Amino acid sequence: MKLYILVFLLLLWISDVSAQFSAGTGRKVITPDIPVWLSGYASRNRPADGVLHDLWAKALAVEDQKGHRIVIVTIDIIGLSHELSETISESLSLKYGLSRSQILLNSSHTHSGPVIYPSLGIMYDLGKDEMAALVRYHKKLTEGIVEAVGMAIGDLSPMNLYTAHGSAGFAVNRRQHTEKGVVIGVNREGPVDHDVPVLKVETPEGGLKVVLFGYACHNTTLDIYQVNGDFAGFAQIEIERANPGVTAMFMAGCGADQNPDPRRSVELAQQHGKELALAVCEVLKGEFKAVWAPVRTSFTTAGLEFAPVSPESYNEDLTGENRYKAARAQFILSAMDKGYDVNTLVYPVQAVRFGKDFTILALGGEVVVDYSLIAKKRYPNENLFVAGYSGEVPCYVPTVRILREGGYEPETSMIYYGMPGPFSENVEAKIFSAIDMVMKKTGARPVTKNYDPGF
Ligand SMILES: [Zn+2]
Repeated sequence: MKLYILVFLLLLWISDVSAQFSAGTGRKVITPDIPVWLSGYASRNRPADGVLHDLWAKALAVEDQKGHRIVIVTIDIIGLSHELSETISESLSLKYGLSRSQILLNSSHTHSGPVIYPSLGIMYDLGKDEMAALVRYHKKLTEGIVEAVGMAIGDLSPMNLYTAHGSAGFAVNRRQHTEKGVVIGVNREGPVDHDVPVLKVETPEGGLKVVLFGYACHNTTLDIYQVNGDFAGFAQIEIERANPGVTAMFMAGCGADQNPDPRRSVELAQQHGKELALAVCEVLKGEFKAVWAPVRTSFTTAGLEFAPVSPESYNEDLTGENRYKAARAQFILSAMDKGYDVNTLVYPVQAVRFGKDFTILALGGEVVVDYSLIAKKRYPNENLFVAGYSGEVPCYVPTVRILREGGYEPETSMIYYGMPGPFSENVEAKIFSAIDMVMKKTGARPVTKNYDPGF
């Protein structure tokens, strides 16, 4: 009998030490009520009339043995506004005692999800009832996310984490160089990041619980009037179908200048989703690298400066032919009247580092692929995943190279986002200074002390 108890205690001890972390998941459907306006294309002229599949907010909570916690939330929407990101973070802080650095919010950037006002507000001229529907949706979204996080924290139990990488090739650089400048098209020579990072969460017995995976590509296969998560939605459905009981979570990478190729049919969105799911499922069959404690998190903001714009040019826009420029001018001039600083954007940068084994660098906005490629070169030993669309999505985030080339991402898109104009050329250095700061706080070191623009 005594020997039996000893063996039992030994087994308990082994099972305890064999789990490096506690982890838990939660999920809530965040599909909007129909009709609602869908976001992402100025060309849409009516609200959505159906639902292809549900949208989700999914949460993964991870805690190391010293109680350091990170909550990662993936959300099937175009992107959180600053206001919503703040409201959600404050709720999570009040309810669960999480600091801002312990909350990673990532939007999939589906272009078949609801408008998140005021983001891209210049694109739409919505009536009172349509706005009221968006406000109701914001409440549902906020409550859904907070509830999913609560479920994840309530679900914490011993788990191990592992990482590995796959690859998927359907993202293509969309900045096509023409005689008329850079247009949205296909540029097969342009930079891409086809990496599919996978973080898997398993019980100490080896039961698969969560698969968090990323990809750097716009979720723009579809421009239809039915709610859906585009390829990222189909990929999550496919992985969960192949692995019953598992939570599949998609994190958007630096895909601001990347489009799925080809696009514009439901079959193609399914095909890209299946390709991404297959890449993940292939990874799941192979070798993984264990991820160790501790969990270290850091969050900061950078003040990104806009290139100077004269107030006269806004006055010209007000009476000009372009209704989007006129709406932007009105927005900026009224912000100036109210005393807001319209010369700087407060931009979030966050690092989440697991031991010395895996680091998620989470950047706000629509981040071009250069940031992912440069950051990986700058931190080659960090097994880095660079997520864009994190925290909030205030606008596109170009590098110096892209600013100088011009086109939709650094210039035209800023009108739809209600930004004063393109960023100053110090945008890249400012962001990397913030990146270096959060990486340093989590113990990561770059290969060179000073940042040297990589492109
Ligand atoms: Zn976009």
